[in-house]
Amino acid sequence: MRLLVVEDEHRLAAALQKGLRAEGFEVDVAHDGLVGLGMALEQGYDAIVLDIMLPGLNGYRVCARLRAAGDLTPILMLTAKDGEYDEAEALDTGADDYLTKPFSYLVLVARLRALLRRAGRDEAARIEVGDLTILPAEHRCLRGHDEIDLTPREFAVLEVLARRSGEVVTKPEIIDEVWDLAYAGDLNVVEVHVSALRRKVDAPYGRHSLETVRGVGYRLVPDAP
Ligand code: CA
Repeated sequence: MRLLVVEDEHRLAAALQKGLRAEGFEVDVAHDGLVGLGMALEQGYDAIVLDIMLPGLNGYRVCARLRAAGDLTPILMLTAKDGEYDEAEALDTGADDYLTKPFSYLVLVARLRALLRRAGRDEAARIEVGDLTILPAEHRCLRGHDEIDLTPREFAVLEVLARRSGEVVTKPEIIDEVWDLAYAGDLNVVEVHVSALRRKVDAPYGRHSLETVRGVGYRLVPDAP
């Protein structure tokens, strides 16, 4: 899955790139509309996250030109809340969906996955770690054949760990991916969710798949019965 992020706010672009890479996407960034258009036409991405207010060429025009060139890559447009630019116009120019700034990272990823699914491009529809199965599209989690009920945040934390199973994922990385990009609260919120997950996906089955790596973070490993 290759994504292009066209966003001239460097901090936001970098945060999106980092977060989406952690989700397993390859992510290129352009900080200018004209550069972004060129990259999109040349490289053929699976989806594009496109800001509206851009130097070079604004997002509407980038989108319109791509469509005029017969390029149907799914586009998620980022619109500003002030209403100067409007969502209807984004969709009119050929965007597939839009998100109003400021947005939650969790929502952005969900919308992107929905776009990729509709385009038939999302391959990671099912993640298996031992006999733990995660179905992101359906928001379902199973241990063996048992359906496990998780809250949206618990599910998102588990999904982050599952996508990188076997690797240590740090608390700040989990925060970046699951909570709002601007989250400045207590990192212990991650611990609370991991504890809850252990009570649901491990303890009832006598497993220890959610490991704590002291001082670093967490790791999800296959733990056979
Ligand atoms: Ca902008």
